[in-house]
Amino acid sequence: MSFLSESLCLHKTVRKHYLSLSSVAECLVTYVWVDKTGERVRSKIKSLNEEPAGIRDIPEWSVGWMIDELSTEVILVPVRMFRDPFFLDPNKLVLCEVLYNSYEPIESNQRSKCAKVMEEVKEFQPWFGMEQEYTVFGLDGEPFGWPSQEWTFTRVSCGVGIDKVFGRDISICHYKACLYAGVKICGTNAESLPSQWEFQVGPCEGIEMGDHLWIARYILHHVCEDFGVVASLDAKPIKGIDATSGCHTNFSTLEMRSEGGLQFIKEAIRRLGKRHFQHLQVYDPHGGADNMTRLTSQRSTSSFHDFSTATACRNVSVRIPGYVSRRGCGYFEDRRPAANCDPYMVTRALVETCLLEATG
Ligand code: ADP
Ligand code: MN
Ligand code: MN
Ligand code: MN
Ligand code: MN
Repeated sequence: MSFLSESLCLHKTVRKHYLSLSSVAECLVTYVWVDKTGERVRSKIKSLNEEPAGIRDIPEWSVGWMIDELSTEVILVPVRMFRDPFFLDPNKLVLCEVLYNSYEPIESNQRSKCAKVMEEVKEFQPWFGMEQEYTVFGLDGEPFGWPSQEWTFTRVSCGVGIDKVFGRDISICHYKACLYAGVKICGTNAESLPSQWEFQVGPCEGIEMGDHLWIARYILHHVCEDFGVVASLDAKPIKGIDATSGCHTNFSTLEMRSEGGLQFIKEAIRRLGKRHFQHLQVYDPHGGADNMTRLTSQRSTSSFHDFSTATACRNVSVRIPGYVSRRGCGYFEDRRPAANCDPYMVTRALVETCLLEATG
């Protein structure tokens, strides 16, 4: 570990003493919200006198927000509560929406728009599962553990061994922390770069998908902070190296999951084919610019310029998993969302195109 990261991590053994002190406050609540960039989360802590039994027991809070060069106050409205894997029970993490003082959602509040659409389609019982890829960096900006940028490494996804993968502790500790919190995490694996990882969240129904993925990202950044490293969700994390990070999004409805569901899967994919560019516009936070460099048809990606689909094949926009095709029902995978996508925008676009038959 470099001197810089060692000093920024402070002394974890010293810290233990303070965390063990008993306190009067019953419960610390960490408020978490998506910031203006749509890519990062922020947080702050508040004491409550009692452990909240549910989301309604957690009061609204406020935070300063730059609106047209003016620092304005906005409201943090709690929407989903999790156990806190850092301070432990009875403390909580709470995901918040950001609203103006008039209680109108601020423009960057994608959750509010997504929740409305999910309400409209709830009889379809839409399920999602998202595969979050990320790359771990040291504080010096170098990929974590790499001897040098010029180092020639072998690409192995799901690799094992200290010469193949760096930072497994991040993946495992994040996994355990998510389980403790109540996040519906369902898997993790090493990705093809030595310091690149993936975790999967799902299946989640409707608005739950975005909520669980955003809290899983908060937990990831916090775990990385504890280890003195940085997680990057950039779609193309390392300059000059053609590895990329995505956030494949798996989708199904009750019809697709039921016997004979394959026909509904194929119809949804047909609709997606007609709105390729509308989707790419919301599959990264820069209107498609990040995916333009990521979706090159190289290394298990498809072409940015054309929509494609296939069964059991990974160089396509949308894939039907082999076993889904064999069983005749299940779900499909949209491989286009970038790692830094907003899950609220991605799940909303899928539902609008596939279920509400949006056009244009
Ligand atoms: P891949 O083979 O593409 O790497 P993963 O195993 O990494 O797939 O991820 C599969 C994802 O699919 C998980 O997030 C899981 O929750 C999700 N999933 C499984 N079943 C369904 C379903 N019926 N509807 C939507 N998502 C599903
Ligand atoms: Mn202040
Ligand atoms: Mn995967
Ligand atoms: Mn992957
Ligand atoms: Mn995948």
